[in-house]
Amino acid sequence: HAKSQGANRYLFFNDSMNKQAVKRLQIENLIRYGLKEDYFVVYYQPKMDIVSGHLVGMEALVRFITPKGGLISPASFIPVAEETGQIIEIGEVVLRKACRDVKTWIDQGLFHGRVAVNLSSRQFSLPFLCELIDDTLQQTELPSYHLELEITEGTVMQSPPQAIETMKKLRARGIHLAMDDFGTGYSSLAYLKQFPLNTLKIDKAFIDDMSNARGRNMVDTIMTIAHNLNLTVVAEGVEQSEQLDMLRKLRCDVIQGYYYSKPLSAADFSQFLQQQKQQRNRLNAVPIR
Ligand code: C2E
Ligand code: MG
Ligand code: MG
Ligand code: MG
Repeated sequence: HAKSQGANRYLFFNDSMNKQAVKRLQIENLIRYGLKEDYFVVYYQPKMDIVSGHLVGMEALVRFITPKGGLISPASFIPVAEETGQIIEIGEVVLRKACRDVKTWIDQGLFHGRVAVNLSSRQFSLPFLCELIDDTLQQTELPSYHLELEITEGTVMQSPPQAIETMKKLRARGIHLAMDDFGTGYSSLAYLKQFPLNTLKIDKAFIDDMSNARGRNMVDTIMTIAHNLNLTVVAEGVEQSEQLDMLRKLRCDVIQGYYYSKPLSAADFSQFLQQQKQQRNRLNAVPIR
């Protein structure tokens, strides 16, 4: 009985546990409702070539649109969705919408690159992952070489041999693979060499740390390793022109961050693509002497 075991402490502990459980349950219910009513939407953040400044691709990032039109960021529901397994269904929605939007932009002559979609650990280890992706690409009529999948170190390190198998199957389809948030996990260099990756994304934490010499050396080192492994390097979370300059000197390939653009709704991203096209057309119109 609670009272005989020191009632105050027990009840306090129990109460905060309850609050957490209630919060978790609320989010779980919200997600279920959102899936049913189609409240999950996809935002897109441009990835720019550091040399030409041209768009090379974009990352699809999920958002929850509340009935009142507010935006809920993934940080507040992805952890719960991971726990409950709802992330699998959310992931399917994101993949389908991203493929559909990109197919539209390709058909309109606005885009030629790849869209990157985040895969959670649970999605990545689905036995029918490849079939799911095949079906989605077929239904949306998006050629597989327009798709890139972002996975984290944690995902591939759960079972590296199995991860390598899955990655090879995806690569065989022409899909590109990126290691996301690189440097925050604990993947060993021995494995990094074995993973059939195309891209390495340096986590924002390292980009933020470039204000000091040690931090810059760190990014330099990661860049060298990645390039030795023939990987394209994307810097995540670039906000300042100083960071851009430093990354250019370090031969970084692609930049993603607020410096160029925040993640945009599909409608805003479509506008962004049209602006990019007009810029290119203006450049092409300059007579060659
Ligand atoms: P991530 O995959 O590493 O995505 C990059 C995050 O950094 C995004 O946050 C993006 O908005 C943010 N970001 C980009 N540039 C800047 C910058 O210059 N400054 C700052 N402060 N932030 C920047 P977001 O959209 O809130 O997503 C957070 C995380 O949620 C993602 O990290 C990813 O792990 C997860 N996530 C998002 N969408 C999905 C999804 O569809 N499926 C899965 N499984 N996870 C997702
Ligand atoms: Mg990502
Ligand atoms: Mg990332
Ligand atoms: Mg991140």
